[in-house]
Amino acid sequence: MPVFKVLHFPHVLLRKPSTPVEKFTPGLKQFAADMIETMNAYEGIGLAAPQVGILKRLIVVDVRPYFENTSLKEWHGTYTYTLDGKNTELPSPIILVNPAIVSKTEEITFPFDGCLSFPGVERGQTTRWKNIVLEAKDVDGRKIRIESDGILSICLQHEMDHLEGVLFIDRVQGKVSEDEVVADIEDHDSDASTRRRFKKMKLVDARAQKLDFL
Ligand SMILES: [Zn+2]
Repeated sequence: MPVFKVLHFPHVLLRKPSTPVEKFTPGLKQFAADMIETMNAYEGIGLAAPQVGILKRLIVVDVRPYFENTSLKEWHGTYTYTLDGKNTELPSPIILVNPAIVSKTEEITFPFDGCLSFPGVERGQTTRWKNIVLEAKDVDGRKIRIESDGILSICLQHEMDHLEGVLFIDRVQGKVSEDEVVADIEDHDSDASTRRRFKKMKLVDARAQKLDFL
């Protein structure tokens, strides 16, 4: 399965809003599987389709690395996951098509937001909603509802922001210099060990794929 090239800030597509998925095709399932492969190869906990240049409303999330880290226990949070109205175990990874937040509670500060489109960038604290309820579809068009707080809620909010062209630097408390951010990413990407790693990954441009759901 291909590993897609993840676009880095300030790529113009990262600022564009995505359109809803309307065709639940075999190609959509394959694309979601390739997104998971990509997220794992980059060692991320979430990825949104526009990050690989596809402006469609699909995200993948896998917060298992956080749940396995007991030093982050205060951020583990709680969640419920229902599929077609039935309470179901939370899948890992989670694939969400056309996700939409239907309710949210108060704002909180999250101390370590980060993004695969911003490698090498650490800018501290972001403002997020504490608890969200979202509705979405799975790749077969079945109805998903998730209520969550903690790291799952934060990660879902981060990935859903990508579908609007909103990036985590927009949520950082205090002023962010985009020039400094770009310089940090360039430093990271030009580092010899990063270049070796990317070369090994044999990255594929998702926009060059035949995608039957566009
Ligand atoms: Zn991101």
